[in-house]
Amino acid sequence: MKILVLNSGSSSIKFKFFDDKIVKASGLVEKIGEQNSKVSLKNVLNNENFERELAIKDHEQGLKLVSELFKESGILADLNALDGCGHRIVHGGAKLKEHCLVSDAVLEELERVSVFAPLHNPAHLMGIKTMLKAAPSVSNAVIFDTAFHGTMPDFAYMYALPYEFYEKHSIRKYGFHGTSHSYVSSRAALLLGKKDISCISAHLGNGASVCAIKQGQSVDTSMGFTPLEGLIMGTRCGDLDPAILPYIERLKNLNSDEIDSLLNKKSGVYGICGFNDFRDIAKQIEQGNDKARLALDMFCYRLVKYIGAYFAVLPKTDALIFTGGIGENDTLVRRKVCENLAHLGMELDFELNEQRSSKERMINHTHSKVKILIIPTDEELQIARITGELISKN
Ligand code: ADP
Repeated sequence: MKILVLNSGSSSIKFKFFDDKIVKASGLVEKIGEQNSKVSLKNVLNNENFERELAIKDHEQGLKLVSELFKESGILADLNALDGCGHRIVHGGAKLKEHCLVSDAVLEELERVSVFAPLHNPAHLMGIKTMLKAAPSVSNAVIFDTAFHGTMPDFAYMYALPYEFYEKHSIRKYGFHGTSHSYVSSRAALLLGKKDISCISAHLGNGASVCAIKQGQSVDTSMGFTPLEGLIMGTRCGDLDPAILPYIERLKNLNSDEIDSLLNKKSGVYGICGFNDFRDIAKQIEQGNDKARLALDMFCYRLVKYIGAYFAVLPKTDALIFTGGIGENDTLVRRKVCENLAHLGMELDFELNEQRSSKERMINHTHSKVKILIIPTDEELQIARITGELISKN
């Protein structure tokens, strides 16, 4: 099956092309709407690169150029030759609980829930509409970051606000990174030779979340109504005392958009030390920057607290999984976190932790009760798989 996976942002389209679940090409349309936009495509099999630099006015023109590069590379003659296109969608809201094929009703509902993810969902919708226009004969599927968390029990997803906020306004925990948590937990189950694994998955990238997975199903996760709750992230604050918000609103005379931007873009480890890339933070710590030390300690402490909480929530924990740019690469974060988890039976092998590899691997001490795994995430492959399954079923 020939499947294109699209992750459409407001000024970008990331794409990967799979032929029978093997990635053949990947690329990016960037700076859409600017004068110096660029589209690039890499033939993954021979590392050949194709690119165009020109002013790309909108997503439609961007996708047209992607189609041209596919043709030029000899990988795909035309977008209409695809069997399907899978779209990554951040927020499915209360009604779109399962991944599905696109229909008018689905588009309408996506439009309605755009208010929940104003930075992401409108861009995803633009991607779908562009694809429908460019390749009308191709089936489109929507794969939600929220769907994997549809199995959370009500007592985990409810907020203790007046009940009508849930009933009338759908305010509840949704959770995100579901495609990644489901992918890495299914890989972990294969690695450990178990059918349904119970584990704690830590997806640590620019956005970061932890998920408690009981026999293959999400039962709780650290992100909430939006991807702001939970862990301290690159530029997002994570959990806060909510009373801080009206206080700083009055103190700094900020409106709701300014508060939103403060919490999402100027906080997190960046807000503490001025750096949000963990490689820079490590360098700063080496140079004696105490705010960088504090930011890293805060990040690891919050993570330890969530892992501990989910260890308590799960009747048993087979594995702790690290994934995402930080989870897969940052030896210091893994060490600092696991040093505080040994008493829960999560014992790291410090030498294995230091070894560099891009492969799935086990990094726990042989006598550790809980396995500690690094599983590189592959959300696009998971989206391609689910898209293929949905098309086959219909
Ligand atoms: P996104 O959430 O944007 O998908 P990624 O999962 O790609 O993010 O993670 C990006 C982050 O991973 C970077 O900002 C950086 O903090 C961290 N990172 C990437 N490579 C390394 C590395 N070798 N060592 C430490 N941290 C790394």
